[in-house]
Amino acid sequence: MIRKVAKFGGTSMANADTIRRVATIIKNDPAIHFVVVSAPGRRQKGDLKVTDLLYQVAKEAEEKGTIQSFQLVEARILEIAKGLDLVDFITPYLIATKNAILDDMSLPFIVSRGEYFSSLLLAKYLNYTWVDAKDCIVFRGSTLNYPSSNQKTRKLLNKMAYVVMGGFYGENGLGDIKVMERGGSDITGAIVARAIKANVYENWTDVDGFLVADPDIVHHPKLIEEMTYKELRVLSFMGAEVLHSETYYPVMRAKIPIHIRNTFNPTTEGTYISPSLGHRGDSLVTGIAGLQDFTLIVVEKELMSEVVGLDRKILSIAEKLGIIIEHFPSGTDTFSMMIESKYLENGIKDQFIQLIKKTIKPDYLEVTEDVSLISIIGRNLMANNYNMLRLFTALVNDNITLKMIDYGSSGVNIVIGVSDDDYAFAIKTLYKEFIEDDEEEEQE
Ligand code: ASP
Repeated sequence: MIRKVAKFGGTSMANADTIRRVATIIKNDPAIHFVVVSAPGRRQKGDLKVTDLLYQVAKEAEEKGTIQSFQLVEARILEIAKGLDLVDFITPYLIATKNAILDDMSLPFIVSRGEYFSSLLLAKYLNYTWVDAKDCIVFRGSTLNYPSSNQKTRKLLNKMAYVVMGGFYGENGLGDIKVMERGGSDITGAIVARAIKANVYENWTDVDGFLVADPDIVHHPKLIEEMTYKELRVLSFMGAEVLHSETYYPVMRAKIPIHIRNTFNPTTEGTYISPSLGHRGDSLVTGIAGLQDFTLIVVEKELMSEVVGLDRKILSIAEKLGIIIEHFPSGTDTFSMMIESKYLENGIKDQFIQLIKKTIKPDYLEVTEDVSLISIIGRNLMANNYNMLRLFTALVNDNITLKMIDYGSSGVNIVIGVSDDDYAFAIKTLYKEFIEDDEEEEQE
């Protein structure tokens, strides 16, 4: 028997119409046994998500000791309930929650109530069992405890079927509600999928799936049909925003595929993220993603490569200053560091440089700002050196200067550094070379 977990995001839960859509998707697929939902999201551009409103309530509670702004949350929940004919059902929960907030003004409790209400409403509308996420998801302090959450969820849900629960929150064993990072409902869905050993974790959102490149840079980029977890990890790290970047941990261990689907276009196949690939073609480049605003620091010292521990000294200075180094390509007697510029703000850059100078007395130290990293992701890229020739030729032909290259240390991507000014242009160039031109070839 196939068992699926389906998680629906905020846009899917935004109003009564979208929730009816969600219900139709669930009813049309008997394999969906477990449903995880976000709080109601934006109804249109410029609208606030219910979780945003709840953060405002928490701020008011902290600053003024009042919760006037909870009215706006009540209005949104009642509007949805009205459309689903569930006003009588939800009203007592709204009253009880308001009193509970007056009792417990803690931020996590307040901001978790969006998922609480949306899960209650959907469970009632579908006539499914409602499970309070606090009975499954465990925090130690304020940190999500994956093993305990897995165990507790498995214990509770394994005996059940046709369940709806809210994402994003859990409990710390002392009766306090805790929340994950924003967007964390994706993680709850993954924990549930692992706990009940689902065959697939469907993540329903408001886009068709992951795109090969940023649509703000490339006009109508292709959809990624299929990729591995490792490619997903790189893509998410480089800024792709479809899924919370931690989502893949729980399901990867259990080898459960993630299937991104669009609530508003349910007939498209979406993006399939899987431990074993091959069911939908095999592309050379899965995605091209990038991050801007890095600083490159190059340190040179005669005979540096013969001395043990100089690089460790530099790294421990970075550690003390809380600097994360993204890449450190090194050469004979040189050591360079690619660092996201945000780690070097407020005087940290000068401190870092002074400490390096004091500790290892370099012969030469150069700082280049406004560098971008672009990752060309593809599990098959490294199989053939010819791909490197294509990459270099395309960049040279378009006059794009390379500042750094990391060839395949992760096994699934090549990372290049270019100036921030060349960033968008380089992505377009690479898209044309590896995606458009290959597509044209296939069609010929
Ligand atoms: N409702 C939370 C947020 O807006 C969590 C989520 O939607 O996943 O961030």
